Amino acid sequence: MPYRILLFDCDNTILDFNTAERNAIAQTFADFGIPCSDDILKVYHRYNIKHWELLENKIETRRQCLEKRFAETFLEIGAKGDPVKVNKSYEIYLSRGHWFMPGAEEMLERVSKTHDLYLISNGNQFVQERRFKSSGITKYFKGVFVSEAVGADKPSKEFFDAVISSIPDWNREEALVIGDSLTSDIKGGNNIGADTLWYNPFGLPLRDGFRVNYEISSWDGLWEILR
Ligand SMILES: [Mg+2]
Repeated sequence: MPYRILLFDCDNTILDFNTAERNAIAQTFADFGIPCSDDILKVYHRYNIKHWELLENKIETRRQCLEKRFAETFLEIGAKGDPVKVNKSYEIYLSRGHWFMPGAEEMLERVSKTHDLYLISNGNQFVQERRFKSSGITKYFKGVFVSEAVGADKPSKEFFDAVISSIPDWNREEALVIGDSLTSDIKGGNNIGADTLWYNPFGLPLRDGFRVNYEISSWDGLWEILR
């Protein structure tokens, strides 16, 4: 059965989160008197990934995840700053800019004419709403779901159940979950028994325990799958 319903992740799938993040981190750290080198960014990334995976596995709350990533980064680099204030500053900077992944805007323009698109994003409502607005992507989607507003995060079944119940003519066999993250997007698709498309622009290796139906490294590869 051809796919009709496409569930798209946002960050590093549609919008270039890495660029937005790098800018927001540099501005935030400058506010706290820390020069942002590649080494410091690497430390932050390590803690950011660690705490997001703890959140995805329901070991930490959203607040714990967001604040601990900065608390542990600052501890390791020997900097001082209240993690609550650091996180707030970061979210404000992050909400201000947007950059597209290569070809993503053109892809949305084309595929939104033939398919029903839904945006599914793990993130903070304040930050994501502003980024969606400034990038103008909401017009391509029949529904937009941000985990903080939903009250559950990808890949949980609660998050996907909330999304599915808002799609009037949901049919799992006609749905494709699309995203760059194995642990939130692909795992989430696997949890609801839908097919998955791994958008993997950075050529990361596939890890055990994830069922990927398709893998593409650029949006040019989408048309073959949707034919
Ligand atoms: Mg993503």
